[in-house]
Amino acid sequence: MVIKSINTYLLEHQLEEPFGFSQWYYAKRNALLVEITTDTGVSGWGECYGPAAVTQCAIDTFYAPLLTGWNALQNEAAWQHCWRASLDFARKGIMMGAMSGLDMALFDLKGKLLGVSASELMGGRLRDTVPCYATGMYYKDIGEDALLESILDEASGYVEQGFGALKIKVGKNLAFDKRLIRDLRKRFPETRLMADSNHAFDLPEALEIGRVLDECGYSWFEEPVSPQHPEQFRQLSDKLDVPIATGECEQTRWGFEALLAAGGVDIIQPDLAYCGGPTEAMKIRTIASAKGVNVIPHAWGTMLNLATALHFAATTYMEPGRLEPNLPLLETDRTPNPMRDNMYATALEIKNGKALVPTAPGLGVEPDREALQSYLLKSTETD
Ligand code: MG
Repeated sequence: MVIKSINTYLLEHQLEEPFGFSQWYYAKRNALLVEITTDTGVSGWGECYGPAAVTQCAIDTFYAPLLTGWNALQNEAAWQHCWRASLDFARKGIMMGAMSGLDMALFDLKGKLLGVSASELMGGRLRDTVPCYATGMYYKDIGEDALLESILDEASGYVEQGFGALKIKVGKNLAFDKRLIRDLRKRFPETRLMADSNHAFDLPEALEIGRVLDECGYSWFEEPVSPQHPEQFRQLSDKLDVPIATGECEQTRWGFEALLAAGGVDIIQPDLAYCGGPTEAMKIRTIASAKGVNVIPHAWGTMLNLATALHFAATTYMEPGRLEPNLPLLETDRTPNPMRDNMYATALEIKNGKALVPTAPGLGVEPDREALQSYLLKSTETD
């Protein structure tokens, strides 16, 4: 059972209406899927988070030639093989994003070859459904009064669909952020609310916004400051009640170990298509557990990354554990993305704000090859 070929698919979709957050506006969406096929004709699929065209080059020209002919069941050994081959110049960043998609594809493939689901490979489901939180409520290029109303309307739609938790974007400007945080809480007194600045603030600004989140009982403040200054998480958390969440820009067990050692972070959020893949995310989870910190993965992109995050959340033991634990959440991006919603032959089932954990072998979601063609910019094959 050896790896015969590795294919990559660079995908693109032009958005009908751009949407923005604290850093930029999205006018298009890109994705990079990886397919690993054995000599027996079985395929596993993965997805990479990061600049898709650059990541495609890293897989096509560097990692794929290292893995063809490799025993398809030896996924962690494959990771170590890739890691050692690129350690001198790829300890973090796009190369690790490339390794993450390969690791995900090998994970899907292993489940299919053994006839077990990804959650069984991760140690076994602790729950059959995982509550979702809606990520959305991004910015539109309209006046601030209209934008505020539009965000509140969008949030109402999610609550009507059964979502019990919502995450907004902050970091536009301090005055608008404060209005939004307070108005959303006023409109939804019972809903679990979170706010994500995507590292928009310096320390005094983060403190100013954090105090409003405290006042309004938000459940976490995500990426309040730059990941370049991990000591600021501790400084912030010493002064705020709202839990601090971060980690979507972080990678590997060593990166997260250093982040946790700096202190002040209550929830870590590795992205399984970027942190090193599902096998690395399980190691990160073990390190976090040793520190008594919970992991709620970041999830962006298409159905493969979402399914991997779902299996991960279904198998996550919430520290410190109790009869009725606070459950992990699945991040579900609600912004328009046909590559997530219309490109899969089998997809996740999300009903009343809860995702059903797939039990089929592997990740349990499968791209539709014909549908994929309509978004395809460039494909590569290594064999
Ligand atoms: Mg985020």
